Amino acid sequence: MSRILVTGAAGFLGSHLCDSLLAEGHEVIGMDNRVSGTGDNLEDAMYNDRFSYYDHDVTEFIHVKGELDAVMHLASLASPVFYREYPIKTLKVGALGTHKTLGLAKEKDATYFFTSTSEVYGDPEVNPQPESYRGNVDSYGPRSCYDESKRYGEAIVRAYRDEHDMDVRVARIFNTYGPRMRLDDGRVIPNFMKQALTGRDLTVYGDGSQTRSFCYVDDMIDGLVSLLESGVDTPVNIGNPDERSILELAELVIELVGSESGITYEELPPQDPKVRRPDISKAKSEVGWEPDVGLRDGLERSVGYFAERV
Ligand code: UDP
Repeated sequence: MSRILVTGAAGFLGSHLCDSLLAEGHEVIGMDNRVSGTGDNLEDAMYNDRFSYYDHDVTEFIHVKGELDAVMHLASLASPVFYREYPIKTLKVGALGTHKTLGLAKEKDATYFFTSTSEVYGDPEVNPQPESYRGNVDSYGPRSCYDESKRYGEAIVRAYRDEHDMDVRVARIFNTYGPRMRLDDGRVIPNFMKQALTGRDLTVYGDGSQTRSFCYVDDMIDGLVSLLESGVDTPVNIGNPDERSILELAELVIELVGSESGITYEELPPQDPKVRRPDISKAKSEVGWEPDVGLRDGLERSVGYFAERV
């Protein structure tokens, strides 16, 4: 059994990660300030006596009593709608929050786990994206608060690894979906689910030809835990390489929900990446992980949750 701190514990991925680590028998300390997360996500964890919760903003100095084996930094505003609304908080949690949690991991001699993003590749000029691709990011662009904070995060993780000889992991997470996403999250799957379930038109931005590759949450958590347990201290893409156009996704959601909704086209947000697909060769060969839930299956598993929320 290990003792693991998870930041962003009340969020979508953070809460699923806490549940999964608890199920494996670990002791988990969850930390969140609930800017985008919600206590509801921790209902199961709260009943577990191996779980404790700290209401804390990770951009401030962090004090945790006792030993820690791992610090997993998941706190972040991950939806473009949220990070456009709170660009300073987004920069702070990716930069200052990473610095503070690294300091804690160093103090505790713990493995440090950073959740980076496919956004480090920006609007990619190569598809799929291998970890060696250096990206196409506008440092002064509308998404730069997120992209650059995560790029800085990766850089400071590497610096702590090299200067302090720390044991580190870096997961580059690609689009993930499933139960516990907020209905007002603003990302494409919660939006489409909500619209299809209430009979409103699905809002496709642009002409819908832009692509994303969607990973079901259970696969993602499995990937993160596998990476933690591996010894790989360089970035690894974690995602599902099944690439779809946004229009195709809209049609699939309408079909699966059995909805009468149509589709309306809205303006494409500036600098919306045109394609995105992870090359997961490294995850397969070095971590021994690959996803196994297909998009149709994952969406079917998620409909019930969204229907309940609606
Ligand atoms: N999108 C859309 N309709 C929506 C929300 C998003 O067409 O109601 C598009 C968005 O422009 C992007 C893709 O869906 O091309 C994925 O957007 P999301 O916000 O989920 O995340 P991103 O991958 O852009 O970070």
